[in-house]
Amino acid sequence: MKQKPKLAVYWAASCGGCEIAVVNLHEKLLDVDAAMDFMFCPCLMDTKKKDIESLPDRAIAITLFNGALRTEENIEMAHLMRKKSQLLVAFGSCAKGGCIPALANFTKNNELLHSIYIDNHSVDNPAGIIPSGTTAFPEGDMQLTPLLERVKHLAQEVEVDYYIPGCPPEPHQIWNVIETFLAGELPSKGSTIGCGTLTVCDDCDRTKEEKRITAFRRNYEFYPEPEVCLLEQGLLCMGIATRNGCGAPCTKANMPCTGCYGAPEGVGDQGAKMVAALGSVMDIGDTAGLSEEVISERVNAFLTTIPDYSGLFYKYTLASSILGGRVGR
Ligand code: SF4
Repeated sequence: MKQKPKLAVYWAASCGGCEIAVVNLHEKLLDVDAAMDFMFCPCLMDTKKKDIESLPDRAIAITLFNGALRTEENIEMAHLMRKKSQLLVAFGSCAKGGCIPALANFTKNNELLHSIYIDNHSVDNPAGIIPSGTTAFPEGDMQLTPLLERVKHLAQEVEVDYYIPGCPPEPHQIWNVIETFLAGELPSKGSTIGCGTLTVCDDCDRTKEEKRITAFRRNYEFYPEPEVCLLEQGLLCMGIATRNGCGAPCTKANMPCTGCYGAPEGVGDQGAKMVAALGSVMDIGDTAGLSEEVISERVNAFLTTIPDYSGLFYKYTLASSILGGRVGR
């Protein structure tokens, strides 16, 4: 009997949302199972690492690798999955651009661990213990994998064949990619697939007029008009700097796009694109005859209405951005 191509899904530093997106294929999972041997997915099945190590090289047809590279174990698994896979796909925004885990690159590891385990109102840790290294238990020693100095995205460590964006990728797009793979119609290597090439604004049904924004507002401050562009209403909607393909579910639910599909085709840095776009819609009033100092004050007053620059503009792409997370290093 002809063997089915092997499919693996691995998670590194991620939240598990990419696996949930796979499960959200619903009945299509039966089609996946009919066409492929879904043989490795640590959060869904009990295949062990040694089972993967014992496979011949390139035995797995396609590995969907989600999660950023945060620990030495993540690095080891990235190399193992690369070696054992014909196609290695950076699956989801953490693997593609670092996503939320990479925001840690703004902070040194010791400061980060201190915030998590010591300086944290929800943690009761009177002895001030920060987990690390090897700890002896009656059942045996437990070793924690060391953290890397900087969080990386997958292609910063191993060769990546394709990228599927999204936090998480939309299930209909995962299915599109699987169908395209089974039909042998994948595009040239290095492509970003399971998405469009334009922006979320191109898919968004809201009415758009000339954007002139005098200040930004937060989601909790008001209930936005359901038909009007959210950016024009003062919400920081990233749709203008974000690749389409998701179907704009957030703006349909009256929430701004947070940018999880990353930069559109041809744009190298999503945050820089958004900053440039905002510069052209910022309305600081009539500046004729005003001194540089007064104009600067107005610009600064406008900018103070943006609450968290890095968290807004680089939430999904910091590791692959021109910044790379070097602040504080
Ligand atoms: Fe839609 Fe946001 Fe683009 Fe406005 S900025 S058109 S709300 S995606």
